[in-house]
Amino acid sequence: MDKIKLLSDAIANQIAAGEVVQRPASVVKELLENSIDAGALNLKLIVKESGKTLIQVIDDGSGMSPTDARMSFERHATSKIKESIDLFNIRTMGFRGEALASIAAVAQVEMKTRREEDEVGTLIRIEGSEVVEQDFIQAAKGTSIAVKNLFFNVPARRKFLKSNPVEMKHIIEEFQRVALAHPDVSFILYHNDIEVMNLPAARLSKRITDALDKSYRDQLAKCEIETDVVKITGYVGKPQSAKKTKGDQYFFVNKRFIKSNYLHHAVVNAFESAIPEGTHPFYTLFLEIHPENIDINIHPTKTEIKFDNEQLIYAVLRSAVKQSIGVYNLTPSIDFDANINLTSGFEMPVRETPSFKPSPRTYVGSEINKKENLDNWEKMFESYSSVVNTEAEQTVLFTSKANREEPDDYQKTDETQILQLHQTYILTQVKSGLMIIHQRYAYERVLYEKYLKDMQSAQNVSQQLLFPKTVTLSALDYALSQDLLDLIRGIGFSIEEFGTNTYLINGVPSHFSDEDEAVLFKGILEAFKENENHRDNSKKETLARTLAKRYAARQTKTLEKKELTHLIDQLFETAMPSISPDGKPIMRILPLEQVGELILNA
Ligand code: ADP
Ligand code: MG
Repeated sequence: MDKIKLLSDAIANQIAAGEVVQRPASVVKELLENSIDAGALNLKLIVKESGKTLIQVIDDGSGMSPTDARMSFERHATSKIKESIDLFNIRTMGFRGEALASIAAVAQVEMKTRREEDEVGTLIRIEGSEVVEQDFIQAAKGTSIAVKNLFFNVPARRKFLKSNPVEMKHIIEEFQRVALAHPDVSFILYHNDIEVMNLPAARLSKRITDALDKSYRDQLAKCEIETDVVKITGYVGKPQSAKKTKGDQYFFVNKRFIKSNYLHHAVVNAFESAIPEGTHPFYTLFLEIHPENIDINIHPTKTEIKFDNEQLIYAVLRSAVKQSIGVYNLTPSIDFDANINLTSGFEMPVRETPSFKPSPRTYVGSEINKKENLDNWEKMFESYSSVVNTEAEQTVLFTSKANREEPDDYQKTDETQILQLHQTYILTQVKSGLMIIHQRYAYERVLYEKYLKDMQSAQNVSQQLLFPKTVTLSALDYALSQDLLDLIRGIGFSIEEFGTNTYLINGVPSHFSDEDEAVLFKGILEAFKENENHRDNSKKETLARTLAKRYAARQTKTLEKKELTHLIDQLFETAMPSISPDGKPIMRILPLEQVGELILNA
């Protein structure tokens, strides 16, 4: 008996959907791009529960005839290419005719559409590839497609959707990409009935600041070049706006967002030493290349692309970026002092720069110490040496074999000499020679463990603010922060949601009551973004480390002997006194003979 059967359309569509529709954000991308292709000038995206229950796009584009409306859900049904020759001339976003069929295979879809010339519009309801209703209705010109209960019939996929904040982050990313590529189109995004983004049609420079980050306002350097092969337009961020986190880097090829490490390299290369190592310049760059010279059909979601002329494009791009930051470099005085924007006509920017105001408190240790102080370092060292077990710790603390055999090196007496060197190092005599402690790292270690403990025991001290402060985040940061709220509250932030992308801060961790609340809060989020991809850094550790480093950074100041002693006491009570939370060595013992050698070899 023969065994091979053709799959039913519904199953075939479901399988195809696996490639096109990975998550709510994929649906967002396909629907938005369809609307753009249909010539829409106003787009509304409405999502509920991060797209898990509803993703709806309403446009004022061309609309569809009743027949086209029905046809649009068939696989490989497209109005955008007719013959294979068209494949080499693609100017529209979609062309494979797969998206609607795939989406309709894994969700409950309701389409309302009407062309300008038609009296009545069309309603189509389709669930799991099955048309359940088709009717004439009154409808506005354009198309509305509502995708409900994504993966309702594929429980395995539904189960693997990430938390709401994570899915929302992906949606916002897709939304931003499409919005950046089409500044002449107005976009509005609603999430759970709240307006999250409202982007009126505008010039690219305004779209960038509206969609990404208001603080880019005075940071945009125009980039423009035209050659036979490629035309490049857009903006790069001036060097000082480079961030430690990647994220605001956008390439569009023929208005299609693409990822390309190769082109990214060209941009970074152009910046050369203008930005510190490990920071990433912002950019939104548009490349126009004749479709004949690119292949965008490599991946169904179409974020990758092949160029016929890769190296040439690299060279052109690099020189374009060089030129644009070069122009900016010629006028540093205007730029830095007057904050005049050379590239677009915005008003004076209000920029928040993180700043550490001097702390009114002088001694952090007094708040930390819950245990009785141990009465001498010898004893401390014993307890400490029992936890020195990693090799890293051994080598950091003990510089010679001789030392390792002398675990009772520290002898604290009343006469113990402690010296502070340039508000940076603490020097003290130990039996075998000189112990040098990095003051800031010592604070980091002590505070890090304190904050971890506080979080565990949920016994944080919150300093209520006299005047609550609002802080408004970018939509992306807001989505990220949703995931961290509990944790952030756990360390003493008293914070509540307060409208679109906004929080009301009522209280801050007591150590930080003298810092700008918004700056502190944003600084914490930045740290999480930086750490996103690190091994298995738990969130608690990231948070504790961030706060510890922030506070410790302010402790570069003259300390009294009592304070120095107390800091060292605290340090040796921690689990890892010789390594900072970042893994940097905190202390070193210089044996006496090495001190002597230092002098001899001078
Ligand atoms: P593709 O975009 O690759 O052609 P889709 O499955 O996304 O495939 O869409 C199928 C067809 O449905 C499109 O070619 C277009 O003719 C029509 N269509 C989809 N969305 C819209 C819309 N918002 N307005 C007008 N026509 C649309
Ligand atoms: Mg499409």
